Amino acid sequence: MSKVLVLGEAREGALRNVSFEAIAAGKKLGDEVVGLLVGDAVADLAQELIAYGADRVITVEHPNLAHYTSDGYSQAVLAVVEQESPGAIVFGHTAIGKDLSPKVASRLQIGLISDVTDIEGEGADAVFIRPIYSGKAFEKVKIADGTVFVSIRPNNIAPLAKDAGRSGDVSSVSVDVQNLRSIIKEVVRKSTDGVDLSEAKVVVAGGRGVKSEEGFEPLKELASVLGGAVGASRGACDAEYCDYSLQIGQTGKVVTPDLYIAAGISGAIQHLAGMSNSKVIVAINKDPEANIFKVADYGIVGDLFEVVPLLIEEFKAL
Ligand code: FAD
Repeated sequence: MSKVLVLGEAREGALRNVSFEAIAAGKKLGDEVVGLLVGDAVADLAQELIAYGADRVITVEHPNLAHYTSDGYSQAVLAVVEQESPGAIVFGHTAIGKDLSPKVASRLQIGLISDVTDIEGEGADAVFIRPIYSGKAFEKVKIADGTVFVSIRPNNIAPLAKDAGRSGDVSSVSVDVQNLRSIIKEVVRKSTDGVDLSEAKVVVAGGRGVKSEEGFEPLKELASVLGGAVGASRGACDAEYCDYSLQIGQTGKVVTPDLYIAAGISGAIQHLAGMSNSKVIVAINKDPEANIFKVADYGIVGDLFEVVPLLIEEFKAL
């Protein structure tokens, strides 16, 4: 296994961090890492993939690929796989990766190891570690032979240091995407605070204990002071304190930040499924028996409306 194809993901003209993490994963699997960029006018991003370790980059560009569709992207990926015959393929386990990878795997008639959080060993000896049973256990998977296809969970595999002086070829592959079954004309995003929840290094999440939409304001301020993103339990989303796009858990987003602050969240098993692998967990809850304290590294028993402003004050003073 020497050539590895890595899908770079861009959003609003900028590469997502998971692209660089996927390159680092690719480096463990083969000698030559080929970055793939799919979209409209994405060639400008190729040099950044190279700076993070890609040896060369292939672009597939077309106005119909400006926004993700599984039909368009899978045709692009399959065309490049046919041309390059990689021994391994790496995607991010993102919304796009989760949708695209099973389709590509089934078309290629190969297996997929999804949601990989770590890789032990290198090349043909690589062993992939992935959480199972909603994060309560980990399994180790090794591919006996054939093409290795993995999707990696964001925020788990460290990217390589950026080297702006690296150079590599950039070439293009043209794919006929005139007659896609669907073409996204425009994406109207809800306004966000800027930090992508699934890639954030710090997440400040609120639950039903936040009590109202206004109750989220101190959490937003704490997240902003820490350069992080705001998340929520389903309890908070169901109560309409915040949007479902913030939901973390079994039926929401899975996050693995360096720091997860849970405020007014009881710690139901479905919530833990989305955050229990965070590196450091801080729980703020006025109930000392709350389940969230079982997974917390630091627990603060108290009223979040008193504790969160104190944290904001302290972190601002640093
Ligand atoms: P509660 O359980 O009501 O907890 C609120 C907590 O806030 C309590 O512990 C309370 O002590 C504390 N509190 C109250 N006031 C304060 C205060 N002033 N200061 C500090 N603490 C305070 N849930 C998810 O989160 N994500 C999912 O993806 C998800 N998927 C689900 C899928 C299925 C199929 C099902 C059945 C359920 C799912 N749930 C999910 C729901 C889950 O079971 C819980 O109902 C939900 O997580 C509870 O949210 P909560 O912790 O915010 O609310």
